[in-house]
Amino acid sequence: MRWDNLTHERPRDAALFGADAVTTRTFDTPEFAGMTFHEIRAKSIVNRVPGASRMPFEWTVNPYRGCTHACVYCFARKTHSYLDLDTGLGFDSQIVVKVNAPELLRRKLADRRWQGEHIAMGTNVDCYQRAEGRYRLMPGIISALRDYANPFSILTKGTLILRDLELLKQAAEVTEVGISVSVGFTDQTLWRTVEPGTPAPERRLDVVRTLTEHGIGCGVLMAPVIPFLGDSPAQLRSTVRAIAASGATSVTPLVLHLRPGAREWFMAWLGRHHPHLVRRYERLYAEGAYAPKWYQRRITRHVHELATEFGIGPSSRGAARRIERPAAEPARREGTRSGPAPLPHVPRQALSQEPTQLTLL
Ligand code: SF4
Repeated sequence: MRWDNLTHERPRDAALFGADAVTTRTFDTPEFAGMTFHEIRAKSIVNRVPGASRMPFEWTVNPYRGCTHACVYCFARKTHSYLDLDTGLGFDSQIVVKVNAPELLRRKLADRRWQGEHIAMGTNVDCYQRAEGRYRLMPGIISALRDYANPFSILTKGTLILRDLELLKQAAEVTEVGISVSVGFTDQTLWRTVEPGTPAPERRLDVVRTLTEHGIGCGVLMAPVIPFLGDSPAQLRSTVRAIAASGATSVTPLVLHLRPGAREWFMAWLGRHHPHLVRRYERLYAEGAYAPKWYQRRITRHVHELATEFGIGPSSRGAARRIERPAAEPARREGTRSGPAPLPHVPRQALSQEPTQLTLL
């Protein structure tokens, strides 16, 4: 791993990861077989989103890099190359853990210059991936956000988020908490091959159901919709029906995009599992990372219609499920400021897509 060379390659990463701050571990348990964890003490944890003018939030926290959920299409694969790590299997199994993330965040929130802006999590890799079961960074992170009444959102495929349900409820009593779960399809065969490290789609929808039952409204990012494999009318219908049955407050469809890093890995997978589709994909993604707009619009419209049919939206639910905020703006339990009006949660992946994504709020 090229930690010290980072000074020349990626100055920003070099500032985050000192070469003397890396401890590498493996664990014997079957759950972590074949995985290596690189524990680092990061120098900062709250990151400003580049080009934030297009985003509804400016700040992110990502306690991990790499993701054991191992989705073949993961757009974050490219970021592993910045550390001179492999973007294929390496991304799935070489996990960087920022072990001091909670204390760094707490320090940041206490800084008088911090204005209490919305913080988005799960925007690069999943903060509730398997490693979180061992490292338990999120309880400290949520506790800090709760204590400072700082608005935040989480996007995840991990059922582990339910471990922190009580903390999330406490946070939702003092600030705006937006949770989104990612479920692009419910097809079991597709799930096992293209998202091999993730909890099953129905387990993820159980997360939506449980959060909703506890008063925390939860949306579903229906992503990715995978062309020719997960986009048939029957598949879209069964997926939206299952999302509706889970009590999701919204559904946001997002068609697969294939940026460099993810594209090579996905196309190799496609060649092994669905070789007859390779040419069709080359044509569909001939213009670059995104499927054509006509295709995106077709999927969005179809999902929109299904969402209406199945009653997903605020007219049938949503607002009533939210925990009511206190009448007065919550004061910070530490420090002196109150947080600003929270920003609506739109996952960053959606915003990095062509602007055809639709939130049915
Ligand atoms: S869960 Fe998200 S971050 Fe993790 S591999 Fe899948 S798409 Fe990537």
